[in-house]
Amino acid sequence: MPANAIPAELRKAKPLEGAPSSSDFQFLLAAIQKVEQRDKIQAPGRRVQVDDEGQPQVPANSPIGNPLRLRPVLDALASLCVSKPRGEVVAIAMECAADTSVTFRVATNSEVPTATVNHLQSMLRKMQEVSSSYRKNKATQSHEVTPDQQTMGLTNSLVYMCIDFSFEKWKKRIHSKLEPFLSIPHNDLPKAHPFVKTRVCIRGLVHLYKNKPQFSDQEEWRSLVIHLQDTQKATQAFIETKPVVGAESRRYEKFPSIETYLIKVNSLINHLGALVRATRSPHCEALLNKQCWAKHLPSMSTKVAAVPNTPEEWEAVLEKAASVQPTDYDLDLNVIRGDSRFMAQSDIPRDISVHCEIKILLDIFRNESPAYTYIGVSKLSCRGCHAFFAAFNNIHDTHFLTRGSHGKSYFPWQFPLNFPKSNAVADKAYRLLAERWVPTYHGYRPRMVHLQPDSTAGSGAQEIELGDRREDDNTLSLEVLTADLPETGNH
Ligand SMILES: [Zn+2]
Repeated sequence: MPANAIPAELRKAKPLEGAPSSSDFQFLLAAIQKVEQRDKIQAPGRRVQVDDEGQPQVPANSPIGNPLRLRPVLDALASLCVSKPRGEVVAIAMECAADTSVTFRVATNSEVPTATVNHLQSMLRKMQEVSSSYRKNKATQSHEVTPDQQTMGLTNSLVYMCIDFSFEKWKKRIHSKLEPFLSIPHNDLPKAHPFVKTRVCIRGLVHLYKNKPQFSDQEEWRSLVIHLQDTQKATQAFIETKPVVGAESRRYEKFPSIETYLIKVNSLINHLGALVRATRSPHCEALLNKQCWAKHLPSMSTKVAAVPNTPEEWEAVLEKAASVQPTDYDLDLNVIRGDSRFMAQSDIPRDISVHCEIKILLDIFRNESPAYTYIGVSKLSCRGCHAFFAAFNNIHDTHFLTRGSHGKSYFPWQFPLNFPKSNAVADKAYRLLAERWVPTYHGYRPRMVHLQPDSTAGSGAQEIELGDRREDDNTLSLEVLTADLPETGNH
């Protein structure tokens, strides 16, 4: 091909030299994060992990008959272990090691605070008490079971204990997008409109619960729970009107992530519902009869000897990603060099740590006895963890799962060291990360551009990019909003 057939700013990526390493994966993740942060973009989230046929993936080694039943319980336990308003992620998995005990592994992205381990142990103990009281009462009734006073009292104390621990996190969530939510026009709507009802509930929560109730003030705790339940019901009715795509969608156009916000506001009451349902579930009865232990995993971190610093080093990182699909894309050097200079303006951290869900995956994998492979996490996994899970499962033929990914890249992020076939997992994870990112980044130009010499930089690549990017993932499943708590008002 003559040299002038390609516009001056385009160049083919060099072919890959050797298999991509764990460092390549880390540096590419850091590069993606820099671009995403600057441009305020992220990849679409993946809420539920599905197989090639679109069926939900099923965790292995379930200790109960239904392999999907324990997923919301583990997600709830992990979420209710978060006490800090920001920056804390918790992952939890369970293992029935013997006939008499269940081990709950818990990890964070650093060390697990002692208070978190103690809280997990207290939640498990309290769930066992509720379950036992519920069964005893059930044995005396021949028809439908109505929880007695003792069971209700124990349930309430489980619920209050959990809210007490994670109150600050919930408060941060409700305030996170309060302003755009309250700015939605509503004066023309009747009081009975689902949006107005939801708005009244959320405003009430914000004004009434600036601080959590005193621990001994049972009445205050009871009204907080009732208020949360009312908000949950109002939200559910509102979401059923399909606000973002329905007939009234123009009203909400300035706050397109309204549904995501409402899911966050209701996450506390939904997770409490999952725990309470587990205490009454016949599937979980045998599990809660066993001894339940919390085992915390230590921090896993390292200091990287060298990281990309100069524009040339960042350019090499960007070029390598395109080398994964060398026949499909060219480098747009104008964009890549500009972005490489931007990346070199600030250093990336050299202290990096393994994220919590990966630590748990490896701890389960190293274990000799097979354990349930669903890992509950307090939030959706990041882009790096999502690629790692997919690569690990592919190489080891395992079924480790979390509830999904929000699509955002986080750095610092450490690829773990010293596990079986780690080089093959790093190679696969890198390719998965690059294959998903390359079509969305405007520094890479699809080869088809060569056939359209008049095309400008905004055409082919830009269309793909816009279709694949959005600020928030509004496709989250709303199943969680159906969670329901028992009548706390009876107590
Ligand atoms: Zn992660």
